[in-house]
Amino acid sequence: MKLYNKSELMPLLESFGFNFSKTLGQNFLIDKNILDKIIDNSNINKNTNVLEIGPGAGTLTYELCKRAKKIVSIEIDNALIPILQHNLSEFNNFTLINDDIMKIDLKKVISDNFGSEKFILAANLPYYITTPIIMNIFEGGFNVESMILMIQKEVADRIYASPGTKNYGALTVGVGFYARPEIICQAPPHCFTPQPKVSSVVIKLNVYEKPPYYVNNKEMFFKTVKSVFSQRRKTLVNSLSGSPFINCDKVKIEKNLKNMDLDLKIRGEKLSIEQLAELSNQLFK
Ligand code: SAM
Repeated sequence: MKLYNKSELMPLLESFGFNFSKTLGQNFLIDKNILDKIIDNSNINKNTNVLEIGPGAGTLTYELCKRAKKIVSIEIDNALIPILQHNLSEFNNFTLINDDIMKIDLKKVISDNFGSEKFILAANLPYYITTPIIMNIFEGGFNVESMILMIQKEVADRIYASPGTKNYGALTVGVGFYARPEIICQAPPHCFTPQPKVSSVVIKLNVYEKPPYYVNNKEMFFKTVKSVFSQRRKTLVNSLSGSPFINCDKVKIEKNLKNMDLDLKIRGEKLSIEQLAELSNQLFK
């Protein structure tokens, strides 16, 4: 089945009376080259478990089912369920769940299907839920090995940013704390049907077994990060001392900046993940 082939996909969708939903971010992949890159870079083999979010018509799912051990796909749109059942009927390593990824009990889905085994996350994500999904999976403490994701270019730029640049922010630090991001390829609008207004990027997040940054209090680290980037025009001292998320006085912050050999007028956005971790460790012992 060549679902990446628009001339095969469209008549099939029509035969089921399917209409694309804009609100569900439905832009289906129709580019074989991009599909191959996703598969090649996901390092899937017969021992791999895959959790897929938003399978659509099953274009990526089909390729995953051919190669992986077990695939569990979660799709919100009822109208796609018979289409997916039809397109993936030849596989017995495929489980389809008709639910909303933002509401489903993901812990249960993962333990029911993968037990304590590792899995990878694969998704051509609806743009409106990209960031919460990525962060929920990280923060859920799941045994996820890597994530291979199609995301909006602008979000990829924020994930893959360097300190001091305009794209560097809470998302860069939040993702970078848990994983090493790797840009796989660009996917311009013509790689999808219907064409989205924005360009996309395939990104791989290689999840660290153990974050390389030591933090003694994860909650306070993330509150520090939130404080820094919600007031990013201010100096680090002012954004932290005036933050509603943490309680820290100026003198203490200045003392710790001096200990770290940092300028007292520095803005928080200049600090690397390692420096933010060190600062939060000093402030919240
Ligand atoms: N993976 C397919 C592909 O690459 O052709 C479809 C990708 S399309 C960008 C996003 C898919 O996510 C759609 O099938 C859409 O119905 C589904 N989706 C949107 N919101 C969802 C949610 N909250 N939970 C689960 N699936 C969702």
